[in-house]
Formats: sequence, C-alpha cells, structure tokens
Amino acid sequence: MEQWIDELRAKHVGNILTGESLASHTTWKIGGPADVLVIPSGKRELAETVATLHRHGVPWTTLGRGSNVLVSDRGVRGVVIKLGDAFDFVRFDGDKVTAGGAYSFIKLSVMTGKEGLTGLEFAGGIPGSVGGAVYMNAGAHASDVSRILISAEVVLENGELAVWSRDDFRFAYRHSVLHERKAIVTEATFQLAYGDRREIAAAMAAFKDRRMRTQPLSAACAGSVFRNPEGTHAAKLIEAAGLKGYRVGGAEVSTLHANFIVNTGNATAEDVLTLIKRIQQKVEAETGIRLVPEVLEVGER
Ligand code: FAD
Repeated sequence: MEQWIDELRAKHVGNILTGESLASHTTWKIGGPADVLVIPSGKRELAETVATLHRHGVPWTTLGRGSNVLVSDRGVRGVVIKLGDAFDFVRFDGDKVTAGGAYSFIKLSVMTGKEGLTGLEFAGGIPGSVGGAVYMNAGAHASDVSRILISAEVVLENGELAVWSRDDFRFAYRHSVLHERKAIVTEATFQLAYGDRREIAAAMAAFKDRRMRTQPLSAACAGSVFRNPEGTHAAKLIEAAGLKGYRVGGAEVSTLHANFIVNTGNATAEDVLTLIKRIQQKVEAETGIRLVPEVLEVGER
C-alpha cells in the first residue's frame, strides 16, 4: 500500500475507501472507481489530507453531489475528496446565512425561504452542494451565486485555510476562479434580505412548477449539458437539429428538454461523450455555432 495512504490512516483524517465506484456518487449514475475516496471528518482533517497529498505529489479532485460531472468509465486516478457530514450545516445570522460546503443547495433555498429570507429562491431546483454551486457559479431564473455570495472559506492546494471574498472568485457565467486555481470550499456566507414568506414560497413554487413541466427530473441526468451560447439557448438549437430522443447506447437526448442527456439505464461515459460530439457536429453543421459543454469531464479517458 502507498505510504501516503498509511499516513492518512495514521492521522485519522476520516473515511478512506479504495476502489469505490463513483457511479453512485453522481446524478448521471455513471462513472468508474476512484483509486481512493476520502471523506474527511472535519476541517482540520481535510486540511491535513490536502497537505499530505500535496507533499507526496498525489493528484486529487473534489466531488460535490456529482450533479454536474461526467466521470469516465475508467474512473479517477489518485484521490477524490468528498465533503461529508462535518460540512453539512447551516448557520443563520440575521439576514446572512452560512452553509457548509456539503450542504444541499436545494435545502439551503428551502430553509432560507422558511426563515423569510429572499435571495436564494433561484436555487430551489439546483441539486448540487454549496461548494459545487460556488465552483460553478450555479444559477437560474436570472440569478446566480455571484449575486449573493459575501465570502467563502477554502482549503488551498497546500492545505492552508483562507477566506476569499466574492471578488476573489472572479465569477462569470457558470465560472469561478476555482476552475483555474485548486481549492476546496468548506463553507460559504451569503447576503440575503428580509422578505415576505408567502411571496418567497410562491416564487419557489412557480419555479418548481416550470422545472417539473420542462425537465426530466425523475431521470438520471446532470442538468444542462451545454452552456447557452450568447443570445440563444442550447436546447433550442438541439431541438431544431431534430435531435430530441436521439440515442447512443444508453444515453438519450431528453424528449422533454433537448439540453438534457438522460441515462436510460445502462449508459456509459463513452456513450454520453459520443452523443455530446454528435450533437456538437450536427448543431455546428446547421447553425455554425459550436456548443460548449457545461458539464465537466472527470477521470481517466
Ligand atoms: P459536482 O458536480 O460534484 O462538481 C462540480 C465541480 O465543482 C467539480 O469541478 C468539483 O470539483 C467542484 N466542487 C464540488 N464541490 C466543491 C467544493 N466543496 N469545493 C470546491 N470545488 C467543489 N446548474 C445550474 O447552474 N443551474 C440549474 O438550473 C441547474 N439545474 C440542474 C438540474 C438538474 C436536474 C441537475 C441534475 C443539475 C442541474 N444543474 C444546474 C447542475 C448542477 O446541479 C450545478 O452545477 C451544481 O452547482 C453542481 O454542484 P455539485 O455539488 O453537484 O458539484
């Protein structure tokens, strides 16, 4: 066994699993094994894990709720770090709320709404973690994380802790500095505003109703596969190309929402990647627009 695993075990950093299939950790239900999956039992243990991996030059990646990633069939070499119970908390402070990196973004939306705080209604249908939402600058209904984030605590690549302000994250459409600079969000603080509970609940119900009508929510999927090109919607272009219902292996372009690819039961990551390429080719041939994936590829090809 590798020396660094022994070291992590000796330091009692948390749960250490070898060869864990990542399919059960992603909403697409696709993905091979992680060499090692670490679920740190606290902040100190997370920092210790990252510092140890850094010292030994072991590659690592973070996984949230796996709702925006396509994990390859071969899986991930090195270590996958997943935040667990120690990061699954929420704290209210007047009209501000702080949530742990593992906390459900949907739950945060519901909880803040119940407290009569407005600002997170848009998150009611985004099935990721708070950490994943910050990484992606997740958004919907004309809002996103960048509009409400005050700051977030992160563990840097060398294991040190830092607090980054909203500006530090350099947010853009579905983008943050975390795409370029490796760090793990342990908790994030959002500025909300006092609002009317009934109005908040009504807005959330309307958003939910729209999603239920337009998205294949009971299917294994990862939300929108492609970014919306400037001035148009990827779904519109894919539908116009006649690709709704188009299949490769077990992967299918949703018949409900053309920018969703659903796993009909036995899809592989290769099926999804092939389907993504075919969609890109057909849409580009017909419109001249090259669709860019929003979902992130993870693991060894
Ligand atoms: P993952 O998919 O696990 O990871 C995504 C990236 O974030 C990875 O690079 C990972 O390394 C990184 N990451 C995860 N946790 C952390 C952390 N603690 N610190 C640092 N980096 C981290 N997205 C939208 O923006 N708007 C929508 O309306 C929307 N609707 C969706 C609907 C459905 C049905 C589904 C399945 C997905 C939808 N998504 C949407 C996509 C997805 O939910 C978001 O991108 C979400 O923010 C991803 O969070 P996650 O925890 O699942 O991250």
